Amino acid sequence: MRPTSCVESIRPQHLPSEIVPEEMAISSTPELIGLAQRTLRDLRLRVAGASGGGPDALREAGYAGAGSLFDAFDTWLSDRGEGKAEDLSVDDFSDRAGEFFQAAGWGRVTFRSLHDALAVIDIEHCWEAQLHGEGERGCHLTTGTLAGFLGCLTDYPVAVMEIDCSVGPTGRCRFLAGNADMLEHAYDRVSRGEEWESIGSG
Ligand SMILES: [Zn+2]
Repeated sequence: MRPTSCVESIRPQHLPSEIVPEEMAISSTPELIGLAQRTLRDLRLRVAGASGGGPDALREAGYAGAGSLFDAFDTWLSDRGEGKAEDLSVDDFSDRAGEFFQAAGWGRVTFRSLHDALAVIDIEHCWEAQLHGEGERGCHLTTGTLAGFLGCLTDYPVAVMEIDCSVGPTGRCRFLAGNADMLEHAYDRVSRGEEWESIGSG
């Protein structure tokens, strides 16, 4: 006998290993997914090593996900009975954001404001630096993520520059954040050999 339609004749089948238990059938796509570090390392290395714009692609990918991370930060704050991120004082924001990034596995993270609107972010044992390939430098995913994350609090795009990147037992990465003009100015001064602490003070 001829089936009336292909849809009826072929019922959806699951291999036993594909059957999803009822309670795990989540309808919406989660905003944050825990991935094995090894998966991230492998992906990151391939993108970083790709010819043409690998670091830019990583920065853009970090930036693309930063809004979700910021939403998770707001939820994390409200779970702890704190106000919204935008209502925190600069000091409280710095403390809470550092704790949040550290709890998320980023490393030991310190946010500090430096002369007006410039901020310094230090990450000891930055996860991304630990995953670098041979001879590779720069935590591009982190740079993009910080730019997007801080940009959720400002009415202008935040630019971020990594001015120090190191691994090892005392490894620490240091990032400067501010608006694009400030960062360009800071870059000129750092590349002329000035100490980053004096930047932004005039
Ligand atoms: Zn780094």
